[in-house]
Amino acid sequence: MHHFKYHDNVLYCEDVPVRDIASQIGTPFYLYSHATLKRHFQLFNAAFDGVDRLVCYSAKANTNQAILKLFADLGCGLDIVSGGELYRGLKAGFSPDRIVYSGVGKRIDEIDFALDAGILMFNVESLDELAQIDRRAGILKKRAPIAIRINPDVDPKTHPYTATGLKKNKFGIGYEAALDSYRVAGKLENLDILGVDCHIGSQITEAGPFQDALENLTHLIAELKSAGMNIRYLDMGGGLGITYADESPPSLQEYADAIISQLKNMDLQLILEPGRVLVGNAGILVTEVLYRKAGEVKNFIIVDAGMNDLLRPTLYNAFHAIEPVENSRKDVIVADVVGPICESGDFLAVDRSIADVKSGDLLAVMSAGAYGFVMSSNYCSRPRVAEVMVHGDRFNVVKARETYEDLVRGETVPPFLE
Ligand SMILES: *Cc1c(COP(=O)(O)O)cnc(C)c1O
Repeated sequence: MHHFKYHDNVLYCEDVPVRDIASQIGTPFYLYSHATLKRHFQLFNAAFDGVDRLVCYSAKANTNQAILKLFADLGCGLDIVSGGELYRGLKAGFSPDRIVYSGVGKRIDEIDFALDAGILMFNVESLDELAQIDRRAGILKKRAPIAIRINPDVDPKTHPYTATGLKKNKFGIGYEAALDSYRVAGKLENLDILGVDCHIGSQITEAGPFQDALENLTHLIAELKSAGMNIRYLDMGGGLGITYADESPPSLQEYADAIISQLKNMDLQLILEPGRVLVGNAGILVTEVLYRKAGEVKNFIIVDAGMNDLLRPTLYNAFHAIEPVENSRKDVIVADVVGPICESGDFLAVDRSIADVKSGDLLAVMSAGAYGFVMSSNYCSRPRVAEVMVHGDRFNVVKARETYEDLVRGETVPPFLE
């Protein structure tokens, strides 16, 4: 459910015609719908009504301050994977005791930052990290709240790059080693063992893998409790998929029910870390057609957004629907939609049936709210694009388009070259 709709063949975001924004700020830009973001959080949270839970939005899907502030104000928590995300989260107003910290490579300065801030818990991914967090907590005279991220070895049936819960993945600690790892943690002086964590992957479109993972974890929690550990949190991670093309992921309620049905009076607080499902379909990327070109075997639509702006098609071969911002052309062609970058991998769509758009037309790359702007880069010295949020019949630029000066900020020519 989102608020990008056509009225009389003109694409609107809520009550604002997308073309009006383009004519005021230029292209390309990311465009987010406030109403959609809010609705997605509220529906997700409500699906777990009756269960003691904390929804921690997974910041890395989209870390714009406006989006973080919106979720913080709705009572959401935050899942972070870096010191930078902790900084952004605190700045946007998240209470530290609603922040969980995942990731395989936490540096000392990042651990110290999180200990000083007083986050809810670290999701620890290795024994080395466990020892490091214990050491830092000792030095800072703090107690470190932790969960261990368990790799439940379930196949999430998603793209290999977004599967994170298989034995061969770098994430978490293997299920067999889990009990021993908790025993090791129990011997460390500065840790409070509070939870069990997992995150099995992203863009998962079936409920089964979540249930399989949860079944493994509930056995583990029972064993930990009988070993006298006071486990209070079960963190199920994120990963629920969205519809980009014709996927049919479980509804929020089906997903929630699948999890709730396995919880069985466990007397735990459930933590959930949704990312994509909250923001993915709340954003689009708006780009202008620069040129048309008929190659020997293909038609090309050359647009002003490239793989540096939206990496998902290149990185994962991901599908994004591409719709005309003004739906006035009747003819349909088959074409590759490509960007200006000097790489053959620079495409937004391949062999796509699309309206017969012309130079100057605007296109909307749909479902671009998650892992869009956050994965963008300055490759080919392209300034990062603007981000805009619509609220009803108004819009605000929530991240200014970068300038050429921004491109060289921080670069210096050393004295020996002067
Ligand atoms: C990326 C990530 C998430 C969010 O994943 P989505 O597929 O966007 O829901 C949640 N938890 C952890 C630990 C992550 O790394």
